[in-house]
Amino acid sequence: MGAGIMEKQKYFKNLYIVNHPLIRHKLSRMRDETCGVGEFRGLLKEISLLLGYEVTRNLPTTTMQIRTPVETTAAPVLDGPLPVVVPVLRAGLGMAEGLVELIPDCYIGHVGVYRDEKTLRPVEYLVRLPESAKSLYIVTDPMLATGHSAEYVLNILAQRGIQQKNMALMCLVAAPEGVRVVEERFPDVPIYTAALDQKLNEKGYIVPGLGDAGDRLFGTF
Ligand code: URA
Repeated sequence: MGAGIMEKQKYFKNLYIVNHPLIRHKLSRMRDETCGVGEFRGLLKEISLLLGYEVTRNLPTTTMQIRTPVETTAAPVLDGPLPVVVPVLRAGLGMAEGLVELIPDCYIGHVGVYRDEKTLRPVEYLVRLPESAKSLYIVTDPMLATGHSAEYVLNILAQRGIQQKNMALMCLVAAPEGVRVVEERFPDVPIYTAALDQKLNEKGYIVPGLGDAGDRLFGTF
């Protein structure tokens, strides 16, 4: 693990904070309330692509004989089934775009979950997943707040026989409360994030956070 690029937390065994200067800079701009829809969307995609580089670091490879213009050589290529990207609707879609750019052949599943404003609990409205049990399933959800939605989606994957070692959670901003919930229930699932913020407020928003990621991504204020 590149020292200084990915920070492993003392208190959270499975949390990887990808703190590259470019990611931190772009995220600061996204947090700023003057960042408009188009810029927010573009930055979310860019950061997701950069995070995706770390999330996919351990994808298996094999070698294949190829002919360069100079000689024949054994060249490394991806091996095994393609990753499955699982955006948690709505806001996860913005992160999936970055991953699709990085892995154009990936499969895509969708899970629609919204947060009940009173209970802050997830309510499911859509599940459509490709079956590829040995693939790496990358769940994308920009804000890991209470952790209930992430836990819910990882649970759906587990019920379909996907092992924790084949799951990863990719978010943009995490709250300690959410990381704790996911780690307790899914101790073998790595969580990748661009930042670990301070806490949740009484409305369940991450502080300082960036507000409602879905609203800022789609302009539904
Ligand atoms: N969901 C969001 O979009 N933002 C938060 O701060 C918390 C949950």
